[in-house]
Amino acid sequence: MADAQAGRSASKMNDDLMKIYPPLYMIGRKIPCWRCETSMPVIAILAPKIDDTEDQVGVLTGIENLPENILRFIQSRVPTFKLKYSKMAGKKYFANTCPKCGVIYGDFFLHGEPDSPFFPENEDAARLLYMKEIPLTEPVEVSAGLGFGLGEIIYSNAKRI
Ligand SMILES: [Zn+2]
Repeated sequence: MADAQAGRSASKMNDDLMKIYPPLYMIGRKIPCWRCETSMPVIAILAPKIDDTEDQVGVLTGIENLPENILRFIQSRVPTFKLKYSKMAGKKYFANTCPKCGVIYGDFFLHGEPDSPFFPENEDAARLLYMKEIPLTEPVEVSAGLGFGLGEIIYSNAKRI
């Protein structure tokens, strides 16, 4: 297993469209809202087949646009995942929001901090996540950032539903 920290350094910038081939997975779990402590669902998208990435499993972050069918699939399950302006990121992206107080749980805190939900430090932490395939028959283009290195441990350990 590649070192998680090292994996984070291999990330792409946000400014171009990525071509992603099926399958694509929604991953997630519930965590307490950082502000009001309500249990809130947080999700991310895991992509094992992305153009020009040599078959590394990537986790999308700071997603700026998503094809309608993918968005509909996700929002029918987790309607609190929505396009929001983030002061910290200085842009709009699809963010996880609290169903009670509406605050954004920013991608940086969900993906970028060791031991955060999408930064599992070991297999047990990765097992806390579920993983559900998003039905997709054609490749799609998505504008987002990409983290590598943790995708593999999530892909191998998340609970498939
Ligand atoms: Zn809240």
